[in-house]
Amino acid sequence: MKYKRNFVKDLLKSSKVDLDINVKGWVRTKRGNKQVAFVALNDGSTINNIQIVIDVANFNEELIRDITTGASLSVNGKLVKSMGKGQNIEILANEVEIYGTADPETYPLQKKGHTLEFLREIAHLRFRTNTFGAIFRIRHAMSFAIHKYFNDRNFYYLHTPIVTGSDAEGAGEMFRVTNLDMMNPPKTDEGKIDYSKDFFGKETNLTVSGQLEGELGATALSNIYTFGPTFRAENSNTPRHLAEFWMIEPEMAFYDIHDNMDLAEDFLKFLISYALENCKDDIEFLNKMYDKELIERLNFIVENKFERISYTEAIEVLEKAGQKFEFPVKWGYDLQSEHERYLVEKHYKKPVMVTDYPAIIKAFYMKQNDDGKTVRALDVLFPRIGEIIGGSQREEIYDKLKGKINEMGIPEEEMWWYLETRKFGTVPHSGFGLGFERFILFVTGMSNIRDVIPFPRTPKNAEF
Ligand code: ATP
Ligand code: MN
Repeated sequence: MKYKRNFVKDLLKSSKVDLDINVKGWVRTKRGNKQVAFVALNDGSTINNIQIVIDVANFNEELIRDITTGASLSVNGKLVKSMGKGQNIEILANEVEIYGTADPETYPLQKKGHTLEFLREIAHLRFRTNTFGAIFRIRHAMSFAIHKYFNDRNFYYLHTPIVTGSDAEGAGEMFRVTNLDMMNPPKTDEGKIDYSKDFFGKETNLTVSGQLEGELGATALSNIYTFGPTFRAENSNTPRHLAEFWMIEPEMAFYDIHDNMDLAEDFLKFLISYALENCKDDIEFLNKMYDKELIERLNFIVENKFERISYTEAIEVLEKAGQKFEFPVKWGYDLQSEHERYLVEKHYKKPVMVTDYPAIIKAFYMKQNDDGKTVRALDVLFPRIGEIIGGSQREEIYDKLKGKINEMGIPEEEMWWYLETRKFGTVPHSGFGLGFERFILFVTGMSNIRDVIPFPRTPKNAEF
């Protein structure tokens, strides 16, 4: 009889016992006495471990000694009902093979209770903790749910470029892509760097957003979404900013700002419901260990309608707040994180969607309102996070868009392809960008964005 490898997750759910099976994984703990050893084995398929019962007399001493926290094992044995407390089933080991030992003197993950800061320094091993196992299983489930949500609703996944030649959006915040010799770059007659000699024959950067290209797709496929990495060279050392983060950007033809809001709300609620249903053990663990209100907060989001207000209303609420803010509250100034959190956490006590921001603080492509002052921007603000989504209805009128591009000093000849979508068969359309890590912060209850992406990229840090 051959022992078939099973995942711990499936074994713990199994109702059949007295089966010969194989499991592989890493030792979390070993305890016991001279007669019997109990090993808690984890293979990453679930936060829960399976108990391996080893009858010491049947194995050589050295092997038993080498089964220490962190060692990797393959176990052939019988799945049986457990006599002990704390688990329903366990495995009586027949054969144990050690793939790799982990020296107790030097393996850093001996006992529980390491700080998140310390675990960031050993990001290559932190996957092996309960916390990071839970976080990255949830991150996976949310990626899957995002694709499912859009696939089920006639949205097409569009791969927009990562290297881009347009710097219309993020002037100053972009990472340059070049293969010029940095010590000796070609120069123009005026002594500037001659990018016509560069790989692409022009200046290129890492993308800050797939939106502009997404719009090109939406004006033919109707509904598209992107889900890819974006890069911002902003020097913001905050718990909510990364230099490399993932963004989901749906773009929908024939959607106005209200359709856009409906989609954003439905999408976020779908994802949170999906997490509550499919990531139960992991969310319960995080609720217990990090954030006692996590599950309550997630349920609250699913069950309540988001508040919808205009920027002008938001300013009025903030002016009446009777609270001292660090940054000024004034019509025409952008909302800062402290303002966003006041609106969400203190005033409305639920997620808030703010629309119709002053044109001067928003991007050139947003649809201009008739008042001549505001644009159809949409920000979705979440408790603990602040801005989680930024979006808008897009300007679809050729002359207005062209006027704005000129007004803002964006070189028109670089935007010719974008403008042409407004020249030929233009349609009203809308979209938004959800910052994936900001969303994972919310779903996991973690408080630093460095803990919800496997390998964070932040100013002065690109280790691993
Ligand atoms: P913020 O004001 O918080 O810096 P932003 O206005 O620059 O955000 P957008 O350009 O609208 O953000 O980007 C869309 C979404 O991407 C944001 O709502 C947020 O969820 C996410 N996001 C933006 N910048 C970052 C970053 N540096 N790291 C992680 N997520 C980010
Ligand atoms: Mn920003």
